[in-house]
Amino acid sequence: MALVNEHFLKLQKNYLFADIAKKVNAFKATHPKANVISLGIGDVTQPLAPAVIEAMHKAVDDMAHKETFHGYGPEQGYLWLREAIVKNDFLPRGVHLDPDEIFVNDGAKSDTGNISELVRWDNSMAVTDPIYPVYIDSNVMIGRAGIFENGKWSNVTYMPCTDKNDFTPKIPDHRVDMIYLCYPNNPTGTVITKEELRKWVNYAIHNDSIIFYDAAYEAYIQHEDIPHSIYEIRGARKVAIEFHSYSKTAGFTGVRCGYTVVPKELTAATIDGKRVELNQFWLRRQSTKFNGTSYISQRGAEAIYTPEGKKQIRETIDYYMKNASIMHKELSDLGLKVYGGTDAPYLWVKTPDDTPSWQFFEQMLYGAQVVCTPGVGFGPSGEGFVRLTSFGDRADCLEAMERIKQWLRK
Ligand SMILES: *Cc1c(COP(=O)(O)O)cnc(C)c1O
Repeated sequence: MALVNEHFLKLQKNYLFADIAKKVNAFKATHPKANVISLGIGDVTQPLAPAVIEAMHKAVDDMAHKETFHGYGPEQGYLWLREAIVKNDFLPRGVHLDPDEIFVNDGAKSDTGNISELVRWDNSMAVTDPIYPVYIDSNVMIGRAGIFENGKWSNVTYMPCTDKNDFTPKIPDHRVDMIYLCYPNNPTGTVITKEELRKWVNYAIHNDSIIFYDAAYEAYIQHEDIPHSIYEIRGARKVAIEFHSYSKTAGFTGVRCGYTVVPKELTAATIDGKRVELNQFWLRRQSTKFNGTSYISQRGAEAIYTPEGKKQIRETIDYYMKNASIMHKELSDLGLKVYGGTDAPYLWVKTPDDTPSWQFFEQMLYGAQVVCTPGVGFGPSGEGFVRLTSFGDRADCLEAMERIKQWLRK
C-alpha cells in the first residue's frame, strides 16, 4: 500500500483564489448583465515588449535550423543571460556577483517553493504576516510548519505587519533558522528601508540564520533610497538567497523565466558543525530535478537588458504605476486608508469601520461590481484589509474607481 504524504491534507483550507472565483461566479449567475471588473488577481495585462517579441521570434527561427538548434541547455541557465543579469541588475548598485551565483529558472514561484529542500525539515521558520502563501504552504507540504490552529501554523513565527507598526516587521526575540522576506511586499505593497533591512542581515549573521529574500517587485521601486537587492547590505551574501522574476518586471507570467541568487559565501552547518556551501547544494539540486528554462524564454529575458528592452519595460511599469497612483488618490479622497502603491503595484486598503475582509469583498462586489482580494487570505494580520492591484487596463481602473465612489457615497 502506497501511503500518501499526509501533510498535504493539512493544506485543504487554502483556496483563496478559488473561493474568490466561486463568489464572483455566484454573483454573475444572479446578475448576468453586470460587467465585473477584477482588481483582484495579481496577473499582468499588458503585452510583452517589442524587443522581447523580436528576440523570441528570432530564437524560434534558431530552433528551425540544424546549425542554430538548441536542445537541453545548461541547468543553471545560459551564460549570456547570467552575465547580462550580473551586469545590469547588480553591478550598477555596487553589487559584484559571479555568474555562477545566478540560477536561471522558470519563475520565482518554483524556487521560493523548492528552496527549503536545502535545509533540514526541523528548522524553525519566520514569515511576515500577511504573506505570499507559497512560503508557508511549501513548508507545510514537507511537514515543517506544524499543525494549523486558530488561523496559524504551530511551528511558524508570524511577524505581524499592519498599520499599527507601519508595516515594519519586528525582529523575533528568539532565534529562527529561516526567514522569508518579500520587498516590495505582496500583498501590502509596502517597502523596507536599508536601515531596517540591515537589522535583518545582522540578526541573520548573529543567529546563523538564512534569509530567503523575494525581490519579485524590485523593478517597481520609485524612491531612490529603497534597496532593490538585499546584497546592497554589507554581509548579506553570507546569509541570504534572493529571488527575482521577469513576471512582473516584464510581463513574463505566461512566458516563465526568473532567477535565484545563491552566493558562494553562503554556508550552513551540518549537525556535527561542518560548514557547507549552499551554492553547491543548489547546483546539485537543480541539476537533478530541473532541466533548464527554454532557450526561447531565456532569449526573451536577455532582450530586456538591451537599451530598447529597458526602455520598453520601463514604459509598461510606469503605466501600471500610474494606475496605482490614480487609485491611491481616488481611494484616499474617499476617506479610505490606503497603503502601498508607491513602490509596488499593490494597494492595501483598510476596510471602513473594521469590516471583516470577506464581508467588504462581498459588499464591494455587489455594490460596485469590483473584485478585490480579501486581506485575511494572506494571513491573520491581513484581516480588516483588502488588496487591489494596479495591473489592469487604465480604462477599467478608472471605471472601477468611479463605481467605488458612487457606491461608497450612497
Ligand atoms: C508574482 C510573484 C512571484 C513571481 O512568480 P513567478 O513564478 O516568477 O511568475 C514571486 N513572488 C511573489 C511574492 C509574487 O507575487
